[in-house]
Amino acid sequence: MRPFEVVPLRAFADNYIWTVRDSGHAAVVDPGDARPVLDYLRAEKLELVAILNTHHHADHVGGNADLLRHRPVPVFGPCDERIGEVTHRLRDGERMTLPHFGAGLEVMEIPGHTRTHIAFHGAGMLFCGDTLFAAGCGRLFEGTPQQMYESLSRLMRLPDTTRVYCGHEYTLSNIRFAQAADPGNAALHELEAKAKQLRDRNLPTLPSTIAQEKATNPFVRCAEPGVMASASRYAGRRLTDPIGVLAAIREWKNHF
Ligand code: ZN
Ligand code: FE
Repeated sequence: MRPFEVVPLRAFADNYIWTVRDSGHAAVVDPGDARPVLDYLRAEKLELVAILNTHHHADHVGGNADLLRHRPVPVFGPCDERIGEVTHRLRDGERMTLPHFGAGLEVMEIPGHTRTHIAFHGAGMLFCGDTLFAAGCGRLFEGTPQQMYESLSRLMRLPDTTRVYCGHEYTLSNIRFAQAADPGNAALHELEAKAKQLRDRNLPTLPSTIAQEKATNPFVRCAEPGVMASASRYAGRRLTDPIGVLAAIREWKNHF
């Protein structure tokens, strides 16, 4: 494996296109827009070597076609015909090697936000698109609360130090909701102070880590008494199973 760094390119209002790069090459994750990628490649004199897609939404794949016109590179993505540009359709448990960099990544199918959403993990990194956010999770557009619960539970079994590269800068608004859903959680106040400092300087709050999510994310803390109690209050009935809690707080957050 060659040494590399991971840098965020901004797209649209709050998307991140995570870019694995060294002094001459780059691979991009979820290029919703080709423009910021092409500008960065030109400014830094980098050659594009691969595209990775986590799910079919336009703000994650919309730049594929223009990037492929610039340079025909392999596109790694889910088994979903809605992303026409994917050249390597990957299933749960399949492994891939990041071209040029040699980093081994394993694919996890993590449905919930969409039916075919995948994550890539390896080399201490997790690229999880719109399933897991810092202190939050994606909306359930195609999946069920049970699927999202199982997907998040699987991600939480990755090593605590895994760096979590999410698809959007939603951290501060997620923390505001998390404080309502998990009011006794002191770790949220610490995270809020840290995130505010970063955002005041216009810096990303990401990557997060699996340990940070276990400590602060109400959607992975659905079995904690404090989250269960506030979810029950919102639902107007006593919720006792974590999937019911997740369903209630996801619904709550949609209107928060
Ligand atoms: Zn999405
Ligand atoms: Fe998105």
